[in-house]
Amino acid sequence: MEKYTEKFANKIVQLCISKYNSLKKTGKPKNEAEWTLLSCFVQEEQCSHTLKVVALGTGSKCIGSHQLPSAGDVLHDSHAEVVARRAFMLYLISEVRMAAEGHSSIFEVKDGTYYLKSGILFHFYTSHTPCGDASIFLKQEWLECVGNVLETKEEPTISPSVPIGNSDTEPPVKKRRCQGSSDFEDQITLQNTENAHVKSDDIKKMDDLEKEKTNLAVCTGDVNEVLSDTFRTGAKCVAGEAPDPKLPGSKYHITGVLRTKPGRGDPTLSLSCSDKIFKWTILGVQGALLMILLKKPVYIATIVIGRCPYSQEAMKRAIYGRFEDGLNNLNLPEGFSVQTPALVQSNIDFAHSRINIAKTASEGSKLIPTPTSIIWSDTSVHRESQEVATNGRRLGCTKKNIGTSKSWVSICRKAISCLMLDLLKDARWEPADFNQLTYSDLKYYSESYNQAWNILKSKCLSNWTVKPKHIKDFKVK
Ligand SMILES: [Zn+2]
Repeated sequence: MEKYTEKFANKIVQLCISKYNSLKKTGKPKNEAEWTLLSCFVQEEQCSHTLKVVALGTGSKCIGSHQLPSAGDVLHDSHAEVVARRAFMLYLISEVRMAAEGHSSIFEVKDGTYYLKSGILFHFYTSHTPCGDASIFLKQEWLECVGNVLETKEEPTISPSVPIGNSDTEPPVKKRRCQGSSDFEDQITLQNTENAHVKSDDIKKMDDLEKEKTNLAVCTGDVNEVLSDTFRTGAKCVAGEAPDPKLPGSKYHITGVLRTKPGRGDPTLSLSCSDKIFKWTILGVQGALLMILLKKPVYIATIVIGRCPYSQEAMKRAIYGRFEDGLNNLNLPEGFSVQTPALVQSNIDFAHSRINIAKTASEGSKLIPTPTSIIWSDTSVHRESQEVATNGRRLGCTKKNIGTSKSWVSICRKAISCLMLDLLKDARWEPADFNQLTYSDLKYYSESYNQAWNILKSKCLSNWTVKPKHIKDFKVK
């Protein structure tokens, strides 16, 4: 675990940002007031000491419960973490197919079951603290973190694939100046604007605090009042969980509970990214369908968070600590285990983050999240060019094309289950009738995954939202 230091985190972030920069402009923020969030999966091959980005997603939108389609052809949740994870599922499916066809792959096959080769690890980068539980922490904690992050940091170099731990290629160390107050002011609005509830007078007080810090002066009572407050999230507690007390200051939120995605308007049934990432630590990131063929789930070794308001303590709580009691003596099926990924923050900014856009936007301009999501994976689907989604459908699809494959993005349920069905057919997997299978049927065949999910729900996630049955009953073919 020793290697998962900030230096390692910076290498991961360099690669991810370099991949993002190499993509075309379509789907990226279009003007000086737009921002987005970025997440990626990075593959490490321990024997060759290489790292490469294998999946990428951007975005911050989520569709409401009343817009949930019944044909499986719309992406419900377009938060960067979820988009990247679904793009990663495409990558895994493609690698299983490569192994099935006898090509070079990260998987090997034995008696029809696929095993991830030893020495292959996956790291997950996200440019911001995940929405939901991980976003609730004292402003004071973050300020201390900023102090640490800013003192002496390296300026990273960018390369498409960097070796790990090769000291010959280390960039020179440069000193960074401690941030000025205007810079600092931008920092204190959480990246998910819909989450953020930092009042302008809070900004002023925290700005004052930064001046105080710089001058080594003593904090004022007002400043202490701000610092003892927590960052807030628009992610709402799900039914059945204890509600937020909504009292002043740090008593506004309850911590450790399941929340749905933040947002205005039609409420969503999608869980916050903090909750989804926790689920991945037990069930893996490959999804239910691929588990039909895999021996073990695919887990994340490290979660790297970009430079943004962050608390290690809140992140730990959100990603595994809050469920410690429930996780004791979990009798999971063979292959499944409780993971505690390393959590590391990088000191590298993402240029299109809200914080950075706020620094350069003209005074008075209203910052808005880019409505589009970029989807990219290291597969034949995206090698030529990224895909772009808006409102869960392919960007630019006409009304006439809605309901046809021309409107699907490659990571919607419909597209992924079609790919999986083809793979299962080729792997000579034999269900009752391929042509009649619905998405629910297909999921049903993933026995170990279903068993693990039921155990996890009963012990830790009993209030997880249930989506209406009709949205899972579409025919795969
Ligand atoms: Zn999120």
